[in-house]
Amino acid sequence: MRGRVVAVVTLLAALALGGPQRLGAQNSAAPDWDKLNAETLQHFQALVRLDTQNPPGNEYLVTDYVKRVLEKEGIPVQIFANDPKRPNLVARLKGNGKKRPLLYMGHSDVVTVDAKKWTFPPFSATRDGGYIYGRGSEDDRPHVVAGLMTMLTLKRLNVPLDRDVIFLVESGEEGTTGVGIGYMTSQHADAIAAEYCLAETGTVARVNGKVTYAGVQMTEKVPNRIELTATGPSGHASRPLQGNAVVHLAAAVAAVGKWRVPMRLNETTRAFFTRMAAISPEADAARYRALLDPASPAAVAADAYFAEHNPGYSSMMRTSISPTMIEGGYRINVIPSEAKATLDVRMLPDENPDQFLAAMTRVINDPAVVARYISDPGLTRPSTKPSRLDSEVFRSIETAVSRNYDTVTIPLLSTGATDMAQVRGNGTECFGIGPALDLEDGPKGFGAHSDQERILEAEVYRFVRFSYEIVNDLARAR
Ligand SMILES: [Zn+2]
Repeated sequence: MRGRVVAVVTLLAALALGGPQRLGAQNSAAPDWDKLNAETLQHFQALVRLDTQNPPGNEYLVTDYVKRVLEKEGIPVQIFANDPKRPNLVARLKGNGKKRPLLYMGHSDVVTVDAKKWTFPPFSATRDGGYIYGRGSEDDRPHVVAGLMTMLTLKRLNVPLDRDVIFLVESGEEGTTGVGIGYMTSQHADAIAAEYCLAETGTVARVNGKVTYAGVQMTEKVPNRIELTATGPSGHASRPLQGNAVVHLAAAVAAVGKWRVPMRLNETTRAFFTRMAAISPEADAARYRALLDPASPAAVAADAYFAEHNPGYSSMMRTSISPTMIEGGYRINVIPSEAKATLDVRMLPDENPDQFLAAMTRVINDPAVVARYISDPGLTRPSTKPSRLDSEVFRSIETAVSRNYDTVTIPLLSTGATDMAQVRGNGTECFGIGPALDLEDGPKGFGAHSDQERILEAEVYRFVRFSYEIVNDLARAR
């Protein structure tokens, strides 16, 4: 495998640079990847062994470790914390200021574990069969170690930079962003202000052990909560009332649940389906192509197919609604005067919230039911502009994908929210990248957040190199 990758890299580099002589000049300070891989393994295992389950977090364990490693090599570190046990770390390599900084992010918390369900203890970082097992091995220690190794390597090779390279290790990503990215973007925006950022949520997809594409997150849906409140007369349950709030609420929930919100594509999803069509078997490819003309009958049929077979694709094309909580009544023989339902709403980045609420109200079509937004600061993420396909970062990622993975790059819209939302909200153009993962691993219970989280050891190394090449390409002095 390694031989083939090196051959591809050499060939592509030679093509791109017009000959081996220039390749030699550019690589005068080439990283020694064999040595760096050994060091990566040591740091990666050490990081996976730190128990930063959120709650409670204790992310200081990670920031203490990373701070020690960086400072030992003369890289200055700043710590920002509004909770001393949940700090954020910022390290910076100075450039000549020709361009605005580049930010690389990894989060330091992990989700909780049920230790007895794990074959290998969740904070053991056990190596077995080519994998490393442990909570955080996918989410998100790879970005922490890749950021760390990138900083160390740039510093050791003394790479001259046209822009500052900033490394942020943020706490609280898993549902408590107030201590992490929310705190950094609202209180210490200057410390992480950058033109571009790289963070988690991209992935290189492997199927049957073979890389099939590299996904890069360009934009994400915006989470919102809508509450439906039905009101009516209360009374004795032995005399049914037409205004029963429970009945009105049930009808409203059914109406919004069945509502097929009109689909529409943006630059990211249009490119996603176009590029997926080019690499997929014909039956799938035909459906992807059909979606490109959303008004066509073929698109409507494809949309119906995805609603049933691939809810993620269906959600990528529209603002989506999932009713998740419902409450009403307090005893069997009393008709309650009020009943409520909560809807998890994921908006397309350019959705107009007021118009959407008005449309939903028309769908419910019942004056006894009121729909309104309820704010939840723990979950709220700002709505932001998608990152551009036509940008130097996307081109740089595409080049690094070809060199390291020999595959196509496909832009992604993620249906879930990430810390990039806040960073984009501060005017930084963000791109989600990630290591190669076996798509079969998730359903088998080996994915992020599952009880046997694991990653292929070789893919940690490849991801570190991939990250370094992108950062080096965007930041080194020309
Ligand atoms: Zn994560």
